[in-house]
Amino acid sequence: RFITLEGGEGAGKSTQLALLARFLEGAGVPLLRTREPGGSTGAEAIRTLILTGAVDRWDARTEALLVAAARRDHVERTIRPALEQGTWVLCDRFFDSTMAYQGIAGGVDPAAITWLRGFATDGLTPDLTILLDLPVEIGIARTAARADGRQRFELREPAFHERLRQAFQAIAAAEPARCRLLDAREGVDALAAAISALVATRFD
Ligand code: C5P
Repeated sequence: RFITLEGGEGAGKSTQLALLARFLEGAGVPLLRTREPGGSTGAEAIRTLILTGAVDRWDARTEALLVAAARRDHVERTIRPALEQGTWVLCDRFFDSTMAYQGIAGGVDPAAITWLRGFATDGLTPDLTILLDLPVEIGIARTAARADGRQRFELREPAFHERLRQAFQAIAAAEPARCRLLDAREGVDALAAAISALVATRFD
């Protein structure tokens, strides 16, 4: 089983990913927890390049190519081998983030992003994608409270985050069999319970 978690900044993705991992491990599921961009040695190097490598931000097309290259390495060296062994894979972001960040919010032609998706993954698609939906002003407030340097909001204007939110909503609506949009205003425990119930019923 291949499960991905998506959402904008401040939605609580990392927290929920950790709680879902704990739930699955507690149920005895062999689990690999990974993330994008990253998840293999090469892809982690590309992640560093994406997040810190540009002198003056990458343009969105370059970013789309870099995340696609990272994804190819991640899929080939980490995700597909794990799935073939029967290990479940839980991934923090996957191709929906490329469509949202670089495509719909970033202005790269969605058809090009869709082509890149196929090129990088050879058709590997998550069995379930959970998208955490949060009003932009709440996300801004949550990340402003972070003291660990993960405050990337100042790098992009609020309109970008609004487009990002709408992008994830549109993706969820377009692929209802794979995607579930959940309200991330819920408390941590309530949201975690909803996510584990969703996973348990989907894969029992
Ligand atoms: O911790 P988080 O997953 O939010 O951090 C990943 C960061 O990488 C995000 O802040 C996001 O801005 C960036 N990213 C991106 N394009 C992607 C995936 C991630 O810009 N396709």
